Amino acid sequence: MNLLDPRLEDELGDGYLERVRSAQYQTALCLLLEIDRPFGRFHWTNVADRSVPFIGLIEHTNFIEPVRYGGRRFLYVANYLEPGDALLDLGPDELIDSYLPGLRVVNPEFTKDWIRERWLHVEAAAQPVVTSGYVRRIPPLRTPSPGLILANTTQIYPEDRGTNYSVRLGTEAADALLESVREREAVGAAS
Ligand SMILES: Cc1cc2nc3c(=O)[nH]c(=O)nc-3n(C[C@H](O)[C@H](O)[C@H](O)COP(=O)(O)OP(=O)(O)OC[C@H]3O[C@@H](n4cnc5c(N)ncnc54)[C@H](O)[C@@H]3O)c2cc1C
Repeated sequence: MNLLDPRLEDELGDGYLERVRSAQYQTALCLLLEIDRPFGRFHWTNVADRSVPFIGLIEHTNFIEPVRYGGRRFLYVANYLEPGDALLDLGPDELIDSYLPGLRVVNPEFTKDWIRERWLHVEAAAQPVVTSGYVRRIPPLRTPSPGLILANTTQIYPEDRGTNYSVRLGTEAADALLESVREREAVGAAS
């Protein structure tokens, strides 16, 4: 989707837009299961076994107790994938089927009968991919268009994107906006 009207696109210029458009992302495939009993003992399990087709299990109700959710239990099966990965074409039930052997690696007793409800969410621009020379391609917060500030996860560097860094970026964006307003006021006062 193109959010820029032609005038603004001209104002930003090719150099800035090239930086913005050079961002590459992994897609997040978020499968949330409501289950009728605990899946495991842990809140957060990172999975680095390539034979398992997902990268993490976050059993939320091992952190915040089920009583807070009317006795319901939730397991988030996390995955980050290259665009075009075959798993992205699956619906929630097909995805559960393809995850089943992996879920059983972690808990051999798990069966689909444990699942009460399921939700599948997909976010294409979920995880910026940092490649060689990345730092030189990060678009500055202040764009070439006066008063227009850009702030997104591609500008969080060298840390990985996260809510705490987004708060920092928000503060930096507000500072950048104030700076540009002050500069325009100073130019206005001088002329
Ligand atoms: C799958 C996934 C897992 C993550 N896990 C973690 C984690 O475990 N820990 C962690 O720290 N971070 C995590 N992150 C990163 C974290 O969620 C983000 O860094 C953070 O939410 C960014 O905050 P934000 O306020 O900048 O943007 P967002 O949280 O994306 O908020 C932007 C808001 O603006 C709204 N919006 C967009 N366009 C418009 C518009 N035109 N008009 C009005 N509203 C609009 C959107 O609906 C949204 O509510 C995760 C991200 C993903 C995708």
